[in-house]
Amino acid sequence: MSTHSRRQFLTRSAALAAAPLFTHSAFAQAPARKLGVALVGLGNLSANQIAPALLKTRNCRLAGIVTGTPSKALAWQKKYGLSAKSTYTYDTMHEMAKNKDIDIVYVVTPNALHLPHSLAAAAAGKHVFCEKPLEINTERCQQILDACNKAGVMLGVGYRLQYEPNNLECVRLAKEKVLGDVKVIDANFGFAMGDPTQWRLKRDLAGGGALMDVGIYCLQTARMLTGEDPIWISAAETKTNLVKFKEVDETISWTMKFPSGVISNSVSTYAANGLAGFRAATSRGWFSLDPAYFYGGNRGRRSDGPEINIPITDQFAVELDDFADCIINKRPTKVSGEMGLSDVKYLMAVYESIKKGRPVTF
Ligand code: NAD
Repeated sequence: MSTHSRRQFLTRSAALAAAPLFTHSAFAQAPARKLGVALVGLGNLSANQIAPALLKTRNCRLAGIVTGTPSKALAWQKKYGLSAKSTYTYDTMHEMAKNKDIDIVYVVTPNALHLPHSLAAAAAGKHVFCEKPLEINTERCQQILDACNKAGVMLGVGYRLQYEPNNLECVRLAKEKVLGDVKVIDANFGFAMGDPTQWRLKRDLAGGGALMDVGIYCLQTARMLTGEDPIWISAAETKTNLVKFKEVDETISWTMKFPSGVISNSVSTYAANGLAGFRAATSRGWFSLDPAYFYGGNRGRRSDGPEINIPITDQFAVELDDFADCIINKRPTKVSGEMGLSDVKYLMAVYESIKKGRPVTF
């Protein structure tokens, strides 16, 4: 799947749904000053999701860009009314320290560049919002946490589904035991990867394959629905294209056990479309979302009848408004650096289990 068709895949349901005007009642009053957000890396996600979302946010706005491509800089300046003064390269982004219009730096570069770009942002005294996965191993994640702590800036991770109403409704069903206790979770996500030259297939830049890219959503589902951390992980891997997936994982299947006894099973894959949802089996029934992980149009069912189909919101706008609100009102973010670090710890345990051929326990 090319990056273009990957985007179409993720947005398909959003396009099918009638897009209502964006509203989020949590922020009825706009703050006195919208916080300025600088985007680092103007690739697909920044161009097609984040920048459009920043036109809808109440608490923040696009105030700067960091790019290594001069032609992109000019196009973005024109499109979003940005000045040359708010435009940086990866080598000059430390100069943001002098730019009072920028409060938050949103890091949207390949996974293994999250560390240098987050460190540069923190050193410039800016709050850091970083795309998932936080980094490619726990040591590098920890360095980001330490730098943000040292600089006294807030760190958040781009877990958009933590703000998606259908996913949150399922968390409510689980937490309030509406259909009894959750017992077994089946969560899977994948797509057929196209362009064989892209960074997602390069270990140095991606850290891993489908597991790091989309498997992380399944891990998040299991952690969100249980409210627990796994205590046992067992995994197996398969590759059907040894050339394309020479450096990273193609398909991984893994099982996690949680302290309450919940078992979750997941598959992440770059080999096929069609997996993008979850189902939770409970002591008195079940609930499911399929799709669960798209940018919009996520919907599902529950065994006692009602559909789960809460109108779409722009997940990126809601997550960014919440992060800005956390800064304005000095409250912790629910998508913390600690959460980003612990997710990477469990992803590493999946790889470790495959390598050792046995379960990993915590
Ligand atoms: P992309 O390839 O479309 O964009 C990456 C950007 O980084 C490009 O502008 C590229 O020029 C720049 N870049 C800088 N140095 C680079 C280098 N050495 N090699 C390659 N590119 C370099 O990728 P994307 O899909 O926008 O993903 C960026 C980040 O966002 C990743 O961490 C990814 O996991 C994350 N992401 C999150 C979601 C989500 O739903 N939250 C969706 C897609 C991507």
